[in-house]
Amino acid sequence: MTRLLAGQPVADAVRREVAAGVERLLARGGRRPGLAALLVGEDPASEVYVSSKTRGCREVGMDGRTVRLPAAASAAEVASTIAALNADPGIDGILVQLPLPPGLPESELLARVDPDKDVDGFHPVNVGRLWLDQEGFVPATPLGILELLRRNDVQLEGRRAVIVGRSPIVGKPLAALLLREHATVTVCHSRTRDLAAVCREGDILVAAVGRPALVGPEHVRAGAVVVDVGINRVSDPAEVERLFPGDEGRRATLARRGSVLVGDVDFQRVAPRAAAITPVPGGVGPITDVWLVGNALMAAAIAHQVEPRFGLFR
Ligand code: NDP
Repeated sequence: MTRLLAGQPVADAVRREVAAGVERLLARGGRRPGLAALLVGEDPASEVYVSSKTRGCREVGMDGRTVRLPAAASAAEVASTIAALNADPGIDGILVQLPLPPGLPESELLARVDPDKDVDGFHPVNVGRLWLDQEGFVPATPLGILELLRRNDVQLEGRRAVIVGRSPIVGKPLAALLLREHATVTVCHSRTRDLAAVCREGDILVAAVGRPALVGPEHVRAGAVVVDVGINRVSDPAEVERLFPGDEGRRATLARRGSVLVGDVDFQRVAPRAAAITPVPGGVGPITDVWLVGNALMAAAIAHQVEPRFGLFR
């Protein structure tokens, strides 16, 4: 029987642990942790993401605040807002909502966030810390994937992990985390030759590509653990029918919303070969969301000089 690795129960457990960590911090006489989301412009999708992130903070007892700048803000204005948040003792974590409006130098501005407040883990200092096995912030999606595997007792040490995708927010940091857990890691990308053969070497296969149902049964070793990070919208009814034959629920979603969510893995055909697999939606997505508050708590622990920094909720 294939095991379904659902993200929500893990997310709920982490959220409870973080909320308890906030309580412990307050009980020690600490200050309520604060997270600021910097939103430049009025992109509707970014508005939704930011309000859900700040709401997530409040749900665990943190201050979640949105700092807004107009789309026409200059790089200097964004930089001085980041500097003010860096200096604000009431703000432990800063996230800069991406994408920034066109014309703003994204990586230059991200590098201005204080690395000890960089809850997204995008700052070059935190990227370096991760690869040097030092404590630091790690992006939420790979952290969430690791926690999902751990809490489902998936053994990592000594096993072959194959990751498809080498982005700085998923593939690369996940490779570093799995190496730290003593897995033997291969990272594939668009130039990888004979992708299916390389993927079949994986005891653990992670797809973070952004191509609907790219990973089929021919990519999967029998008995592998498959993690699907992809979030793709498919609106072609014939494609939805091909991927989910006879699935009334998805037909209804397509009729209602004009598209259905599809991962990077062809779930229907891959699941029977796998020992365990994450669904889309409901797998990696929910745990990604919760790790932002986990990182914000770690930022508060840094500000309060609590050691070990993860000790508040581990
Ligand atoms: P990117 O576009 O940044 O990276 C995609 C990677 O896939 C690249 O390394 C690219 O290779 C590789 N790739 C593209 N096509 C192929 C192919 N045909 N064969 C092999 N490799 C290929 O994407 P992200 O990492 O940001 O996101 C990946 C997916 O995960 C997306 O669907 C995204 O929406 C989703 N996502 C989901 C999250 C969640 O919370 N569940 C969070 C973050 C992302 P190359 O480097 O050579 O171009």
